[in-house]
Amino acid sequence: MAKAKFRTALYPGTFDPMTLGHLDIIKRASRQCDKLVIAVAINRGKNPLFGLDERVEMVENVIAPLRNDIEVEVRPFEGLLIHFVESVGATTIVRGLRAVSDFEYEFQMAGMNDRLNPDIETVFLMADPQYQTIASRLVKEIARLGGDVSQFVTPEVELRLKDKYT
Ligand code: ADP
Repeated sequence: MAKAKFRTALYPGTFDPMTLGHLDIIKRASRQCDKLVIAVAINRGKNPLFGLDERVEMVENVIAPLRNDIEVEVRPFEGLLIHFVESVGATTIVRGLRAVSDFEYEFQMAGMNDRLNPDIETVFLMADPQYQTIASRLVKEIARLGGDVSQFVTPEVELRLKDKYT
């Protein structure tokens, strides 16, 4: 029988802001590892609406109720993803897949990361159908135009979006 190993997985993203789609992926990922590190990327290139501290805080608050059931850590990071994965001792990178449009970019990233460190595996998870189409970019757009985003994000994130756009 194979020896059981303690497995850490890392779920990186911009989380600008955290949505119920992200949360669903976190719940699924946590069932497949012993510890999940949620890595919030500074991602200057994406020009995030929320600062890094705000995004980390939102993720912390959204996952707080899960802390009794899973070992989870939220960490900000900057720089090359594979270096960060190595520094936390993770063996798996978790990414979410929504539609075909995500595939091309994710395929390239997984391939390049595999070349950089073949011991680290990228796995893809799909959210429950009710959350599959949620995208932070569209949530922001709806909030900016005064629409109701309550079915896409938690009440706290909804409030923070309102604050940003008023
Ligand atoms: P990034 O800038 O790294 O793409 P995001 O915060 O946009 O950061 O997304 C982080 C990860 O979560 C990505 O793998 C993305 O595909 C996934 N994701 C985001 N929203 C959903 C969703 N509704 N269903 C499944 N996966 C999702």
